[in-house]
Amino acid sequence: MKLKVNQDLCIGCGACQAICDEVFEIDDKGYAKVIVDEVSKSNEEDAIDAKEGCPTGAIEEK
Ligand code: SF4
Repeated sequence: MKLKVNQDLCIGCGACQAICDEVFEIDDKGYAKVIVDEVSKSNEEDAIDAKEGCPTGAIEEK
């Protein structure tokens, strides 16, 4: 699975990073970005939880 963050929608709440910091990171500008090319199987469940929990729906599948 490949994910990306739509930074036009991200409000920088940090929830995705808190749920799955192996996949999401808050960048210098205060918005989330995906730091892996492909989400590994071991991180998939947490990454999906983060995607579904994003308050603005900013996390999308590529
Ligand atoms: S949970 Fe959504 S709004 Fe919050 S930092 Fe992550 S991508 Fe941005």
